[in-house]
Parts: sequence; C-alpha cells; structure tokens
Amino acid sequence: MSRFLSGAAGRLAPYIPGEQPRDQQYVKLNTNESPYPPCPGVRRVLESANAADLRLYPDPDVIALRQAMADCYGLSADQVFAGGGSDEVLGFFFMAFFDRGDKVYYPDITYGFYAVYTQLCGLEGKTIPLREDYSLAPEDYFGLDGNIVIANPNAPTGMAISPAQVELILQNNPQRLVLVDEAYIDFAKDQTCVPLLAKYDNLLVVQTYSKSRALAGMRIGCGLGAPEVIGDLRRIKYSFNPYNLDRLSILIGIAASAARDYLQEITGKIAATRDETKARLEQLGFTVLPSKTNFLFARSPVIGGYELYRRLKEKGVLVRQFEKDRIRDFVRITVGTPEQMDRLIEAIGEL
Ligand SMILES: *Cc1c(COP(=O)(O)O)cnc(C)c1O
Repeated sequence: MSRFLSGAAGRLAPYIPGEQPRDQQYVKLNTNESPYPPCPGVRRVLESANAADLRLYPDPDVIALRQAMADCYGLSADQVFAGGGSDEVLGFFFMAFFDRGDKVYYPDITYGFYAVYTQLCGLEGKTIPLREDYSLAPEDYFGLDGNIVIANPNAPTGMAISPAQVELILQNNPQRLVLVDEAYIDFAKDQTCVPLLAKYDNLLVVQTYSKSRALAGMRIGCGLGAPEVIGDLRRIKYSFNPYNLDRLSILIGIAASAARDYLQEITGKIAATRDETKARLEQLGFTVLPSKTNFLFARSPVIGGYELYRRLKEKGVLVRQFEKDRIRDFVRITVGTPEQMDRLIEAIGEL
C-alpha cells in the first residue's frame, strides 16, 4: 500500500479471482468457464471486424445490443441494462440503491463479490444462513429492512430455488428491491425469474454471457427489470463510465444473443456431463450437492478440501476451494468436456 491510500480503501478485502495459471497446462476446472467455444457468429464478427471503426466511441446507450438481449428474453429494450460483465451490473446495483450504512441481505454462503461491494459502498451486510443442507429457506427473507441479493442457482453450492419461491420473497418485500443473480440459469432448465418481471417492479434479474455463452473473455452481462429500475442503473453508469461496453463487445453480444440453438446445444451437453460426473463422484464416496449449474460442489469422504485441491493441482487438475466456515471441506469443480471429466476422475482415483 502506498502512503496515499485512503483509510477506507486500505480496509477493503478485495475479491480474489480463481487462478489463471501460466506455468503449465492444467485441466482447468476452477473458474466455471465453458469448455466449448462461443457460437460461430462470434468468430464471424471477429473475422469481419473493421479496425478503423475503433477510432470512434461506441454507442453509450448500447441500444442495438439491448434490443438483441430484449428479443432474446421477450422484453422491451427499456427493461434491459447492458453491463461490462454481470459484475459491473452488480456494482451499479450497489451504487444505485443504497445509502451508506443501509442494510443489504444475502446468504452466508454465496458469491463472494456481494460482501466486497457491501464493504466498498459502506453498507451493513446481513448474512442469512442457508439451511443445514445448503438449501435457501425463502421464509428467512420475508419482511426485511433492506434490499436482498440472491444468486439463483447459488454459487458455490450450485443449488436453486424455484421461481415460485422467489415470488414469495418478492411478495413479502414490496418496498425492497430483490436482485436475483442468474449467472448459471441457462444450465437450470425453465427456472428463470424473467417472467416474474411482468408482475413485480421490485425484481432485478442479472445474467451474464460469461458462462453459458462461453464469453468470459469478453465481459458482457445484463440487468433485466422495470424501466424505472433500469433508468436508475443508467444514471449510475452515466456518472461512472458512459462507454461501458466497447464496440467489439457490442457486436459479439449481438451475435451471441441470436444463437439460441447453439446455447441449447452446449448447455445441454454440459448438463449431461454434469449429471454423469456427479454419479461417478458419488460412486467414489463423495457427497455432491444437487447442481443446476455448470459446476459441482463436492466433498471427499477422506480428504479435506484444501488437501484435495492441492493434490489435484499436483496432478494437473485445477479446482477451486474456499477457506470458509461450513464449506472448507468441499471443492468446486467446473464441468468440462467428458474427456476432462475422465482426467478428473482418474486423478481422484489415483489419490
Ligand atoms: C461468474 C459470476 C458472476 C460474474 O460474471 P461476469 O459476468 O463474468 O462478471 C456473477 N455472479 C455469479 C454468481 C457468478 O458466478
């Protein structure tokens, strides 16, 4: 830290991204990236992109991409906010809908970024414990005195609640905004809360193109909500980074939005590999939580979480482990290709 750093910045505990190793070739199952390439339309965009266009700023309204996303979700463009990855949409949510000192509620075990934004914005983070079996109890979220953030399906557990259960949370918090982070929803058939937007103006659904659309390297995400809520997010964006999506992201986002069949194909493949891998891990004695995502959260019957992570890494297989109460004996394993899963199972067998 320099001697110029503010006290508040010095007290932050920043998010720690999963390793992106450069030292050797790993079977990389640690950051929930897709094992398959983005849709063919993305390659065509890259091949036909015109470098000279890059001297011009991109459209700050991102209207073409927002319209493409709206078509994809059956919404209108004024219900869509486009962000540089869903992390940026989450950040704008925290900046837009809280004053310093306000409370924000989220589960004790969930995506680590919520606590980071809470701290960055000077809020009071209130964690609500998941049940013993790591499921989320909707009734624990009724009548709260702060906005609510839930990842559904949750990370790193992979478990989901139904849209009907989310609806109960919305009904019981009419004066609160409920953010549902659907980063993994394309792997959980028909579980999206997007249809609830027709009935509830206190819902903000956040999705990303990083996982199911295989575009983590590009930074494209969106927020879906009532036009007024979307307008509030735009207010923050125009106070922070008006050109938040660059020209290439916009073109690639449009191409990816249109590729519905391809999305079905690769998410279907990944879901099938996931279910097979879960069964194989259970045969080896592992406890595996029921996953609606592109990862498995699994506990070995004999090896602790950190030890398993470390020994798999020695064998060239990279998974993620969290040094956190209640989950330190688990590892989170991204679902890769069937061949990558064979390598994983083989490495575990050798241990
Ligand atoms: C990966 C992930 C994100 C962030 O995704 P980006 O769009 O790449 O920023 C947000 N929320 C959850 C729960 C995630 O797992």
